[in-house]
Amino acid sequence: MTAARHADVLVVGGGQAGLAAGFYLRRAGLDFAILDAATAPGGAWQEYWDTLRLFSPATFSSLPGRPMPHQRGEEYPDAPHVAAYLTDYEKRYELGVRRSVRVGAVESEGEGLVARTDDGDWTSRALIMATGSWNRPFIPAVPGLAEFTGRQLHTHGYRGAAKFVGQRVVVVGGGNSGAQIAADLVPHATVRWVTQRPPRYLPDEIDGRALFDLATRRVQGDGGGPGSLGDIVAVAPVRVARDAGLLIAHPMFRHLTAEGPAWEDGSTWDCDAVIWCTGFRPDLAALAPLGLRQPGGRVPMEGTRAVEDERIHLLGYGDWTGPASATLIGVGRTARTAVQEIKLRLV
Ligand code: FAD
Repeated sequence: MTAARHADVLVVGGGQAGLAAGFYLRRAGLDFAILDAATAPGGAWQEYWDTLRLFSPATFSSLPGRPMPHQRGEEYPDAPHVAAYLTDYEKRYELGVRRSVRVGAVESEGEGLVARTDDGDWTSRALIMATGSWNRPFIPAVPGLAEFTGRQLHTHGYRGAAKFVGQRVVVVGGGNSGAQIAADLVPHATVRWVTQRPPRYLPDEIDGRALFDLATRRVQGDGGGPGSLGDIVAVAPVRVARDAGLLIAHPMFRHLTAEGPAWEDGSTWDCDAVIWCTGFRPDLAALAPLGLRQPGGRVPMEGTRAVEDERIHLLGYGDWTGPASATLIGVGRTARTAVQEIKLRLV
């Protein structure tokens, strides 16, 4: 058995949130290591469908230190461009991410922590969870899910329109993913877009930058003004489909039958596939041994620090771990605060 390795600060996850943490840890002169389960850099950006466009221009989608370069011919970069940027970022700041290392459990051992990985144990004095939510897709418990005989997938499994050409497809979800996937499909398939409430678009002249400002103001307590983080950014493909009258939202159905959705009023729509664009949950399973979660599933937080265990910080999971912390532009600020706090405690 190999001896446990040690880093004063262990970062679990080497996507954008883990890299932003690494940037500030390096600057603070702290001893740290970043472990990442994936085989390649880029976090979830490696897995998004190719036509996905960022909802903000490159310069407003940058991690601390190094602005994202423009993508030739594209104001709103695509996912491969972001993955390439993150690849370059970790090299430039020599963050030394250790890949193909999955942390299965984090346990308390005296004053320190021990992370059990598939490549041996790591001990640390503080730990930053930056595992994202991509690997925990959420599908609501709609009656009849198991009865439907067509194909069901989640945003997580969507790779583009090619597999749906000529089909009848239901897209569920009124957020950015639902709108973008519906817009991606409408030139190739017959789409019925289903949303829980009527979709709300940000004004066309406003893009994802507004979401960051909004989250910041809301966290600072001034309400944030009009618009909300769930609002759809009218990126070009969404705008084109909407303006062509192809993005018509239907109310949520009551249940699924073998053939497709059925609504309260008795109407039905037979289809080949249902795509659930219904969000994700934070991927915090490795923290289970610490018992930080409350019955509702949330970890009570003070900024990025777990209230019940000051050694643990959560980064990048959403506004509850810092304003707009689940965005490229927003995560840097919360990473800086987390590292400042960790430094104060450790040094
Ligand atoms: P991830 O990118 O998911 O990285 C987490 C890393 O942790 C992964 O590499 C994973 O392998 C690793 N990991 C997980 N579990 C373990 C473990 N147990 N042990 C070790 N490693 C582990 N944001 C924007 O700013 N602009 C946008 O336009 C935008 N568009 C989006 C579109 C979609 C469809 C989605 C889903 C999100 C979008 N976001 C956008 C939000 C956000 O920027 C991304 O979700 C981003 O990938 C989150 O980064 P992260 O580092 O928190 O998580």
